[in-house]
Amino acid sequence: SLTLGIVGLPNVGKSTLFNALTNNDVLAANYPFATIEPNVGMVELPDPRLVRLAEIFGSERILPATVSFVDIAGIVKGASEGAGLGNKFLANIREADAICQVVRVFADDDVVHVDGRVDPASDIEVIETELVIADMQTLEKALPRLDKEARKNKELKPLHDEAVKAQAFLDEGKTLFSVKDKLDFGLLRELSLLTTKPFLYVFNADEAVLTDEAKVAELRASVAPADAVFLDAKVEQELLELDEEDRQEMLDSIGQSEPGLHALARTGFHTLGLQTYLTAGPKESRAWTIHKGDTAPQAAGVIHTDFERGFIKAEIVSFADLDEAGSMAAAKAAGKVRMEGKEYVMADGDVVEFRFNV
Ligand code: GDP
Repeated sequence: SLTLGIVGLPNVGKSTLFNALTNNDVLAANYPFATIEPNVGMVELPDPRLVRLAEIFGSERILPATVSFVDIAGIVKGASEGAGLGNKFLANIREADAICQVVRVFADDDVVHVDGRVDPASDIEVIETELVIADMQTLEKALPRLDKEARKNKELKPLHDEAVKAQAFLDEGKTLFSVKDKLDFGLLRELSLLTTKPFLYVFNADEAVLTDEAKVAELRASVAPADAVFLDAKVEQELLELDEEDRQEMLDSIGQSEPGLHALARTGFHTLGLQTYLTAGPKESRAWTIHKGDTAPQAAGVIHTDFERGFIKAEIVSFADLDEAGSMAAAKAAGKVRMEGKEYVMADGDVVEFRFNV
């Protein structure tokens, strides 16, 4: 499954956030037999539609989708030069599908900031610079080979030219993700460049920032087109120790409508380019994770590879139509249930039953 790698300067709240991600009981409750690496944390993707489906189908249980985060050891300035944890750190980032940087915006005189002050823009630049340098080194090594190959085989010229273009952006200090509209990431994929990965910024903020809409909007705009989430990691950890009622009270007291981990799960899902479809029956109502743009057979393959191989068709109703109709029979009577074939591209919230040969 796809993962977001958590990075950030020391003392910004990575461990605090990661603890909240690992202490949330998601896995113990729903996947008792799963073996989870100690550096992997998961959160449920909150989805109120599953509650409604369970009601319609009388399901015994609900299984939401999950989002995985990998804790990557703290980056230090100079990581790209191979100092200390550097090489291992970069190798870990290479394995992640997206980069999730925790950025400190909370004020607290008791927590030392590595650079002596709270400065989110500068913290972001420190990490970006390390990743940009690592990509420049990758290209410096690869380009002579790409150049030689492109001279022999002109089919390889587009890759060479794209790499040269990417190098120019890196020379300007830009991450490739920030100029993704100007590059062909499909061509560049085989070079495994770190900054082509999507970025998600988690601003670890205190109440003063969380309730300051202008400040939130400013920080959000500063990292676009990357995604951004605002939460208080310390509060997130405390929330997990409370029962439902106290949790709501605590959220109200800091002017938040939901736990930050919910927003983190939704945004992380978006950063990874994922979406869900739904299945429902008396046993369970469940969300399944697929990529945006996946076809019906690919979606079936997430349940079981046999489902993809033997795919015949999919019986699909949109959640909104089913919700309105109140039952599968009523949705059918209203002509809202469609039969879709192999070419069908799944839409978010499709409620599906697959027909297949075994
Ligand atoms: P890491 O080095 O990035 O893993 O940072 P830690 O999670 O260990 O946090 C460093 C210190 O900052 C710890 O003392 C935390 O309790 C504190 N801390 C983390 N998040 C917050 C926060 O949102 N607000 C405040 N006031 N302190 C925090």
